[in-house]
Amino acid sequence: MPELPEVETVRRGLEPAMVGGRILAVEQRRPDLRFPFPERFAERLHGQDVTGLGRRAKYLLADLSSGEVLIMHLGMTGRFLVNQNGATFTPGEFHAEAGGERTHDHVVFRLSNGATVIYNDARRFGFMDLAPRAGLAESRHFRNVGIEPLGNELSGEAIARLFHKRMAPLKAALMDQRLIAGLGNIYVCEALFRARLHPEAPAGSLATFRGRPREKAHRLARAIRDVLTEAVEAGGSTLRDYARTDGSLGYFQHAFRVYDREGERCATPGCGASVKRLVQGGRSTFFCPKCQIKGR
Ligand SMILES: [Zn+2]
Repeated sequence: MPELPEVETVRRGLEPAMVGGRILAVEQRRPDLRFPFPERFAERLHGQDVTGLGRRAKYLLADLSSGEVLIMHLGMTGRFLVNQNGATFTPGEFHAEAGGERTHDHVVFRLSNGATVIYNDARRFGFMDLAPRAGLAESRHFRNVGIEPLGNELSGEAIARLFHKRMAPLKAALMDQRLIAGLGNIYVCEALFRARLHPEAPAGSLATFRGRPREKAHRLARAIRDVLTEAVEAGGSTLRDYARTDGSLGYFQHAFRVYDREGERCATPGCGASVKRLVQGGRSTFFCPKCQIKGR
């Protein structure tokens, strides 16, 4: 499943093909993906100018001149293929060139700038929807979505405010999409390691009694931003089950310091301890028992 940096990588690759173009034709080849397509899907897109392509959590948001937003979610195996100026490419370099059979091409957009954008999804856990831009934040997809970790919203102050008085373990609080949106297992493990915080420490320990940030809240905010930014710059990471589906590998995975490194030497110079694994909420957490000490 693509994590947030991968979705951001796709957004950046798709932007030049879609933004500024007018949708001339939409070919919808199925009634549904994970969910049914919205009513009159192709008709509502036809003739619309794409005025922007944004991202909220793991949703891609194409702004249309009609005032509606085309909401796109990649699910597990969703990908876009862009055909422009005689070349075909897949935004997000973590995807295999040859992967994705054409029988899984479910939606085809033809744009006035000559680009053809194809949505391919082998397992069909992705979906598309249309909603008015006004009130989008309160709509069903987004009303319970937490703050963006890749923007200016995430700070030590924000973490202190969100985690204040929470007894849940830090790992669980970071995975809670209602607090911070789009953080998956890999990035949470990596950020906690970089911030030198124990995954089982109570989330509330990052805030003072009055809800002000402790130094470690600032440290964590910085670590989250750094780890995500590096992943986007590297073209996204790749989870192994995602890689198995399309046979491709990303680059950021080579930079993992703790994730999936149980028993290996800690990456901190001079530490010497081995990376440990524990299970929290049914998911593996990887951490260094010497660098990440509870209560510090
Ligand atoms: Zn260590």
